[in-house]
Amino acid sequence: MASSATLPTLRFSLKPSTSPCLSPSDTCHLFLRCRNPTVSYPRPSLLSSGLLGSNRIVDPVLKCDRTRSTVSATATPAEVMEQSPPKTDSNVSTIVDVNLGDRSYPIYIGTRLLDEPDLLQRHVHGKRVLVVTNTTIAPLYLDKVINALTAGNSKVSVESVILPDGEKYKDMDTLMKIFDKAIESRLDRRCTFVALGGGVIGDMCGFAAAAFLRGVNFIQIPTTVMAQVDSSVGGKTGINHRLGKNLIGAFYQPQCVLVDIDTLNTLPDRELASGLAEVVKYGLIRDAEFFEWQEKNMQALLARDPSALAYAIKRSCENKAEVVALDEKEGGVRATLNLGHSFGHAIETGFGYGQWLHGEAVAAGTVMAVDMSYRLGWIDESIMKRVYNILQQANLPTTPPEVMTVEMFKSYMAVDKKVANGLLRLILLKGPLGNCVFTGDYDRKALDDTLRAFCKS
Ligand code: NAD
Repeated sequence: MASSATLPTLRFSLKPSTSPCLSPSDTCHLFLRCRNPTVSYPRPSLLSSGLLGSNRIVDPVLKCDRTRSTVSATATPAEVMEQSPPKTDSNVSTIVDVNLGDRSYPIYIGTRLLDEPDLLQRHVHGKRVLVVTNTTIAPLYLDKVINALTAGNSKVSVESVILPDGEKYKDMDTLMKIFDKAIESRLDRRCTFVALGGGVIGDMCGFAAAAFLRGVNFIQIPTTVMAQVDSSVGGKTGINHRLGKNLIGAFYQPQCVLVDIDTLNTLPDRELASGLAEVVKYGLIRDAEFFEWQEKNMQALLARDPSALAYAIKRSCENKAEVVALDEKEGGVRATLNLGHSFGHAIETGFGYGQWLHGEAVAAGTVMAVDMSYRLGWIDESIMKRVYNILQQANLPTTPPEVMTVEMFKSYMAVDKKVANGLLRLILLKGPLGNCVFTGDYDRKALDDTLRAFCKS
């Protein structure tokens, strides 16, 4: 294994200016370490509410008291601040602030948050709102959201557009339906778009908000684990192209993210597991203690234990917010959030959008990236086994679908967003658990060997 003394090494730093800009020839390695996660004990009201299934106590879990984590580019991970949230009688258990200067925003996390109109209304600009959702989520939560937007505020009028459900509709045609509705409703620049749904809706609504009249206000209400721990945070928005995932889009930050954990009550088990692939990712790339917590609490997460879910969402959002604050537009360190995604996106594109869920493809892709890291001699075998075990525990796939061939992987990975000047840069694990690198400097044979090991032809 290469010693960190002989390689340019990037660590979390006090100054954002030290964020790396990688060129394809760079051998810049990103060693990411995370603080100890906040560990405390269950909030009694959550444990007694029974709102989200079993009340098994897991350790460590959600903080007893409401907390506020301010994560900024100028703070070291250890300097995350604890502050009181604005309203004392709110169900918000945690606020994670994403600190991006004038694009900063709060992530509210808690139960029954859709019953708190004030949380949403304080982030609405103007009097016109467009809620973007889909045919599955609309019957479940649209009325509740409209009520939250308008309760005690008769001046606000709400339009909605209900899109077809599915990754295969994350395309230009469906995006146009949002613009059609906005233009037909004569919305002006002082309107607010609200994304109500999973990552597909969030990515499309965010991109529509970035482009409509060159940018309008927008709010994220994520309703899947995937969206609550990852896609709603950080401002990546966009749609797929038939030749590749998420190739068309914009960085565009929301005004706030409202995570009402109760919405996960209606989420199918397979979707829940899919989101956990991204939770595992944070542990692997930068937060070994969080990974160890997941190893102990995976069954509680699958059983929808409310305090376990709340803790996993909070830690995930804190990890994501820290990385985004350091590198909003993915000049370097933010790319590490894509562990397993180059392989995973190839699976999604090659196998057909929607055949496998995004997190399922990421899970198989993560095993492939970890296998390659091991072949390079960068990690111990024990890490490989632990990754395999935790993903199996989460009921996620650990190999790609059989239809995927070496050639398919190579051709889809060639249009990956992390290709620069023809060189595919990958996120690979290196060193002890919780450390990774984003690099194009690896032995090509290891990639070939991994592809051959996971594909029949
Ligand atoms: P999704 O949006 O397709 O939602 C999954 C399914 O669950 C859908 O059928 C949806 O209608 C349904 N659903 C959503 N909430 C529900 C609820 N509360 N109850 C019942 N059903 C519900 O998929 P996803 O996994 O949330 O997101 C995947 C997408 O996110 C991919 O397109 C991926 O590229 C994107 N993503 C983006 C980022 C980012 O940074 N922008 C990060 C990760 C993933």
